[in-house]
Amino acid sequence: MSLSAILRAGQEAQLIAGLLAKGVLPGLPNGHYIDGAWVPGTGSALMESFDPSTAKAFACFAAGDAQDVDRAVAAARRALAGPWRRTSPAERGRILARAAALIRAHAPQLAVVECVDAGKRLAEARGDVASAARTFEYYAGACDKLQGHTIPLDADHLAYTVLEPVGVCAQVVPWNYPLATLARGLAPALAAGCTVVVKPAETTPFTALLLAELLTEAGLPPGVCNVVTGTGVQAGAALVSHPHVDHITFTGSVPTGMEVMRAAAAHVTHVLLELGGKSPVVVMADADVPQAVDGVFGAIFENAGQICSAGSRLVVARPLHAQMVEALAVRAQALSLGHALTDPGLGPVNSASQMARIAGHVDRARQRGVQVVTGGRATTDPASGSGWFFEPTLLDSLAPDDPAVQQEIFGPVLCVQVFDDAEEAVALANGTDFALAAGIYTRDFATAHRMARDLDAGQVYINEYFAGGIEVPFGGNRRSGFGREKGLEALRNYCRVKSVAARLS
Ligand code: NAD
Repeated sequence: MSLSAILRAGQEAQLIAGLLAKGVLPGLPNGHYIDGAWVPGTGSALMESFDPSTAKAFACFAAGDAQDVDRAVAAARRALAGPWRRTSPAERGRILARAAALIRAHAPQLAVVECVDAGKRLAEARGDVASAARTFEYYAGACDKLQGHTIPLDADHLAYTVLEPVGVCAQVVPWNYPLATLARGLAPALAAGCTVVVKPAETTPFTALLLAELLTEAGLPPGVCNVVTGTGVQAGAALVSHPHVDHITFTGSVPTGMEVMRAAAAHVTHVLLELGGKSPVVVMADADVPQAVDGVFGAIFENAGQICSAGSRLVVARPLHAQMVEALAVRAQALSLGHALTDPGLGPVNSASQMARIAGHVDRARQRGVQVVTGGRATTDPASGSGWFFEPTLLDSLAPDDPAVQQEIFGPVLCVQVFDDAEEAVALANGTDFALAAGIYTRDFATAHRMARDLDAGQVYINEYFAGGIEVPFGGNRRSGFGREKGLEALRNYCRVKSVAARLS
């Protein structure tokens, strides 16, 4: 089979030049990917995808509905009972390893597509593609190691467990890390022998479609990985309420996660929820200040703050407060804004609605009398006067119950809280409904590990925010969801345990 034209297209420089000159990206698919082939939607409706750097549409994709979801789930069920079940674990591993190699081989094209679809800086998009390849490589090695146990009973009995694939898995993906988030759900599902139907976000459909095609190229049988594009209300809701879906991995906002859970309850479908966050970065008085400034800066301004685990709250010891805020403000003001393909200091946010949402949070904070140290306004690419950008923003000295502290803004907005002792630091850090990630900056080993124990978060980073990789489990507590992705833990979501006990005499 021949790959989509975009994957056969020239290298990065040619694609970028074409895009910047004409504003369109030719050669992208505009159908769903079902049963190993491109299929048009049952309805003929197409939706536009916009380049957030220019606010202009650059390509169209299919607006899927319940019938498209039905076709995809049926294909996934057939593949589960048929060719995928007959594929040995060792062969599954070889397919995943070939997928990793193909992602790397097509990294330039995938990075450009991700950059223009999501609006993320090209360097970050390249990093996301590399991380997706690494994810497939990691889980390729797990396929033939999913072993059960033998259980000692007595001389007359034999008991053992078998790990079986959970079945057909829905993967509902948000727009902030379209390819990397999909890879971290898809690769362990395939490693465990499951089949998958993916619903990418409506603003970032393309890398999921291209990944499905590359998986077929890697040898994945038809129907094992299907992608239906479209809105959450039409395609997403149909998928998570489908009676023939056995597991749902949902990554997105808390309100949608609640809806997904309600839909899953109707068929007692297993769910994993990766939801929002308002993660604290605690900087103790003995911290290495330049290291802490670097860490906090990256924690909030990478991907324009649109990261579930962004360090969106700086919880700082009073003696370092003024110095940290000053250093962060200087660096924030120095960030250049520009088209994501030109690798500016800060790229756009993903959509007009996201820009309005961030602006609303900051406007309301200003009206409450919160001190806006720097930034605070929606803006555009200074070179073109277009696009959906938001200035890098610092809100200072916030009260623990301030809405800017309590609510996820999901943009380049850092909220600063000040503490006087370690106990207060922990209370402030744990003082929201979210519990996804937390950072600690300190030179004291014992303080670091005491705080790691006391912070309520799925992951704690010490002296390097976002430390770790695919090997390290990731997920939230409380409103941030439940279940763990990444690492060997992720495989548990996609395996079910069967116990067999036999009488021998
Ligand atoms: P969202 O909840 O609006 O949408 C997420 C996905 O769900 C999209 O694909 C959307 O089309 C789909 N969807 C919408 N309504 C649906 C429904 N009724 N049924 C099924 N699917 C539906 O979230 P978003 O705005 O796209 O993403 C931002 C949110 O995602 C933030 O809250 C962020 O923190 C969170 N997030 C969490 C993680 C994590 O790992 N914990 C990672 C990335 C993003």
